[in-house]
Amino acid sequence: MVNTAIQEIPVDLEQLLQPWVDGEVPVAGLNERLFAALCRPAHQQPVWPDRHRARAVCDALRRLPPITLPGEVDRLRDLLALVSRGEAFLLQGGDCAETFAQNTSRHVQGTTNLLRQLGLMLSYGARKPVVKVARLAGQYAKPRSRAADGDGLPSYRGDIVNAAERSHQRRTPDPNRMLEAYRQSTTTMNLLRALTSPGGADLREVHDWNENWLRHSRARDRFAPLCDGVKHSLDFMSAHARLGPMPDSPVFTSHEAMLLDYERALTRVFNRGPDAQLYDLSGHFLWIGERTRQPHGAHIAFAAILANPIGVKLGPSATPDDVEYYLKLLNPDNVPGRLTLITRMGAGRIRRVLPPILERVAASGSAVIWQCDPMHGNTRSVGGIKTRDFDDIVDEVQGFFEVHRAVGTIPGGIHLELTGEDVTECVGGSQRITAADLGARYDSACDPRLNREQALELGCLIAEMLSG
Ligand code: PEP
Ligand code: MN
Repeated sequence: MVNTAIQEIPVDLEQLLQPWVDGEVPVAGLNERLFAALCRPAHQQPVWPDRHRARAVCDALRRLPPITLPGEVDRLRDLLALVSRGEAFLLQGGDCAETFAQNTSRHVQGTTNLLRQLGLMLSYGARKPVVKVARLAGQYAKPRSRAADGDGLPSYRGDIVNAAERSHQRRTPDPNRMLEAYRQSTTTMNLLRALTSPGGADLREVHDWNENWLRHSRARDRFAPLCDGVKHSLDFMSAHARLGPMPDSPVFTSHEAMLLDYERALTRVFNRGPDAQLYDLSGHFLWIGERTRQPHGAHIAFAAILANPIGVKLGPSATPDDVEYYLKLLNPDNVPGRLTLITRMGAGRIRRVLPPILERVAASGSAVIWQCDPMHGNTRSVGGIKTRDFDDIVDEVQGFFEVHRAVGTIPGGIHLELTGEDVTECVGGSQRITAADLGARYDSACDPRLNREQALELGCLIAEMLSG
């Protein structure tokens, strides 16, 4: 695990003990647990030069409406319970880093519709419903391996903290950006809700998009049988049941719960008395990243007191002991759907590193979701540009299924960095993007994403793996 300098996050006890929400009474016990969590060492936090302004921004955020609702969060957890039992499959994907400048309707619609296209394919392959979760409406904070670039400039930490532009002034953490991230997240959420509301796209329309893609794809011959299979199934369903509309299922939101000032400010108490629970309503699903999963750090302790479904990224240095500790701390009551372990080992390591971890968890009888992130263990630098090879991504997914079949555990889902746009950030796929093409349309603010073509090809391959 990469260790950057530990920074105490500024904790203001007085403020914590004030009512959190208009008219809401502080709940005994929860405040103390939150305080204790936030007193732990927190990695990757910015130092706001203007502490007074940072406090004023957090105060303002605490008074603003939440972005999601507890009922929606509970509904996602119930759907994830199906995933943990192998009765549904989890698809999560979107940008590595959302940016304020690229948060356009074209972009949000591109990601949302791509997830729906993939969801339909995977559902056909797995013969199960697919739970869709976008990395959208809040994925603005980035952990960094180094605090500064080679030339001494502070690292870009995501649009919620500083600007990517290479100047000292623009790289200085600015707390006002938390308000802008909130505003942009609500806008994205609004569009996402509209796009996926009843009366929005129907499954047959989603299939039309897939057919349209395939017609122009170089992978046409390879995947035509799969696409035909989906079409026959939809035709059969509608003919057999004389179905009218076949509405698609919802798309939930997620992001890395990294910037604790922001996450804490959007955390709300729900219910009173002994039923009181804390929900981080900045999104539905929140995950803790590879760089902030220190077992005794603030991020894991913060996640432990939330009612949201939580993910934890597991890199190649993760041990069975680490994982056992997460199970005890993050899901002591063994609630199905509460905890997702997101493995991102790298294609060359997954077959060796994952089995002992799976065996330990299987022996404990814990209900967890195993999700494969085939992106973050396969990043490499070509001429100073970060990229990933399509074949490595496929190989890690394949390894994930192999290892789960061998151990007898459930491969529950997939976690991708992708965009609906025609970028050139990952190499390979049937478009045969090479290192020389990377400069052409490299728009990611952080890690390289699969473009629409690559994502749909990968979706077809995973659908085939699922149909086994
Ligand atoms: C990410 O998901 O963008 C990320 C930074 O992942 P990880 O924490 O696994 O490196
Ligand atoms: Mn990333």
